[in-house]
Amino acid sequence: MRYCPECKELMYLEERDGEIHYVCPSCGYEIIHDSSELSISVVRENKVLVLDRDTTAEPIVKVECPKCGNNEAYTWIVQTRSGDEGGTVFYRCTRCRYTWRIYT
Ligand SMILES: [Zn+2]
Ligand SMILES: [Zn+2]
Repeated sequence: MRYCPECKELMYLEERDGEIHYVCPSCGYEIIHDSSELSISVVRENKVLVLDRDTTAEPIVKVECPKCGNNEAYTWIVQTRSGDEGGTVFYRCTRCRYTWRIYT
């Protein structure tokens, strides 16, 4: 478990390119799960680039953004490590990039 150093939100795990990333659902802050503190600052500088690349690969669904009322959002599912029931569905608004989640 990690909390976002920016806004203290609980970060979720995302597996991407064989690496574990901690991602903040509210500001998009990312940390690569690595023991070296060096990689953390690198990821932070590339924050926007990384997020842009990801969102283009994610499917868009019709769902209303709770923040701006836009009704399209990118979606992806994060399975919990423990392998118990289901996963968490995430949505990211295509307009304002607000990210929220729904537990299944
Ligand atoms: Zn944050
Ligand atoms: Zn929105």
